[in-house]
Amino acid sequence: MLNLQDLSYQEIQNLVKEQGFPKFRADQLMDMIVRAKDWSECTNLPKAMVEKLSKEYFATSVKVVEEFKGKDGAKKYLYALRDGNVIEGVYMPHNYGDTLCVSTQVGCRMGCSFCASGIGGLVRNLTAGEILGQVLVANRLNGGTPEKRAVTNVVLMGSGEPLDNYDNVIKFLALVSSEKGINISPRNISLSTSGLADKVKMLADTGIPVTLTISLHAPTDEKRSRLMAVNRKFNISTLIDSAKYYFEKTRRRYIFEYALVEGENSDEESANELAKLLKGLPCHVNLINLNYVKEKGLKGVKNDLVSRFTEVLEKNGISVTTRRSMGNDIEGACGQLRRKYLESENYLKKKDEE
Ligand code: SAH
Ligand code: SF4
Repeated sequence: MLNLQDLSYQEIQNLVKEQGFPKFRADQLMDMIVRAKDWSECTNLPKAMVEKLSKEYFATSVKVVEEFKGKDGAKKYLYALRDGNVIEGVYMPHNYGDTLCVSTQVGCRMGCSFCASGIGGLVRNLTAGEILGQVLVANRLNGGTPEKRAVTNVVLMGSGEPLDNYDNVIKFLALVSSEKGINISPRNISLSTSGLADKVKMLADTGIPVTLTISLHAPTDEKRSRLMAVNRKFNISTLIDSAKYYFEKTRRRYIFEYALVEGENSDEESANELAKLLKGLPCHVNLINLNYVKEKGLKGVKNDLVSRFTEVLEKNGISVTTRRSMGNDIEGACGQLRRKYLESENYLKKKDEE
């Protein structure tokens, strides 16, 4: 079976034509896709059309199976895919717009030492339609329509390394920003990467104006390689070169994510090294405290250390914000919810039934 959400407006038009239906049906199909409707809800389409297309295509590809509400208004979703795999996402209402964090892969193969998403390795890439499907269903569940969206911003910061699923992510960016689709501008989209420098350059060459976020997490190769295996392939200097290239091509500032980890990257020396590394770059630093992941053993730091680290950066003229970690009380960190689910009885029971 194919997924209707994988198709562009042009491809929907071709499909309608090939199948012998009048042209205006393409717009109706598109409207149904944006509203995340299933075939059974498409009462404005002729029965024969629904019957024919539903034999070949799923109308939706992701279903919310559980929803957890945080105290701060954040909602965490556990989604099921058509093949039974599960992924997760977070919906975060802000005063400047409502942001959805989406996953790009089931699992991840980058193996960062603090992250729950990588624990079981990579299971598979998501298709463009499955990434889009998360946006569409979250928009629907939060009362959004194509005219008045409940999701206005997207961050590719759920599980998975977006640039390790490059082609599908690029296609997703086209689908999600299509005027006939949900029409979220790439300027309202942030793509976070663990540092695949070669792909950062490819992304820059596409000219798609997404905000680039780089998970730096350490100021020296020695410290970074301990936390992130990817640093052995693309070291800090190669990574910064790719960020500079991105700026040259797009004129857009980029963001460095930096999670403070006890005993690894959070002391005064690290703050000074980071300040030196980033001095003069058109960048911004997002400082976060590490979310504790029980399987990983690494811990975050005390709040006064976060303030001290921030001060050092500010003193050196580096633009920095301390991100409040939304959804902390609902397993907000990358991949934690899915892990919990995979471990749960619920999952074991389902496996037994298979
Ligand atoms: N794979 C991409 C995007 C998904 S991870 C990347 O690594 O950038 C999204 C962000 O969450 C990254 O900055 C990642 O480093 C961070 N992250 C992962 N595990 C975390 C944890 N336990 N606490 C805080 N941040 C974490
Ligand atoms: Fe993958 Fe990002 Fe987690 Fe690293 S931090 S394991 S790249 S999802």
